[in-house]
Amino acid sequence: MSFTLLRYIPADPHWQPTPEAAARAVSLLETMALKADEIKSRFEDKVRFFDPGENWSGVECYACGADASGWWGRAMDAAYAAGFRDLETPAPCCGKTVSLNELRYGLPAAFGRFALEVRNPETADPTEEQDRAVGEYVGMPVRKVWAHY
Ligand SMILES: [Zn+2]
Repeated sequence: MSFTLLRYIPADPHWQPTPEAAARAVSLLETMALKADEIKSRFEDKVRFFDPGENWSGVECYACGADASGWWGRAMDAAYAAGFRDLETPAPCCGKTVSLNELRYGLPAAFGRFALEVRNPETADPTEEQDRAVGEYVGMPVRKVWAHY
């Protein structure tokens, strides 16, 4: 069965909130997505990549604007092998050093060691104001990543 995940991931991929802040943010999301199947926080040992699932629609280099699809997979494999500790990589398109976390993903994606996760939120896309509030509860600005599977 297909499902949708709404995720919020801290802007700093290595950062984690306190358990108390995470619980407060979950409570906030519970008021925003009353019909969701499940709302939880995820603490990860290592940085992982939260992608848009089947919504994937490409990736571009932010330094030069070129399509990065050709080299992105290899750069991801190399970064993954190192546990995503370092997200910087040389971009073959322009030779600049870029961060995998800042590339222009066709739809938002993010690296992180923490995520708030809403399964089947059954709600409209939260407003910028709501997104900001989630960040304030967590203790750091967050990125919103919708994923469909
Ligand atoms: Zn480039």
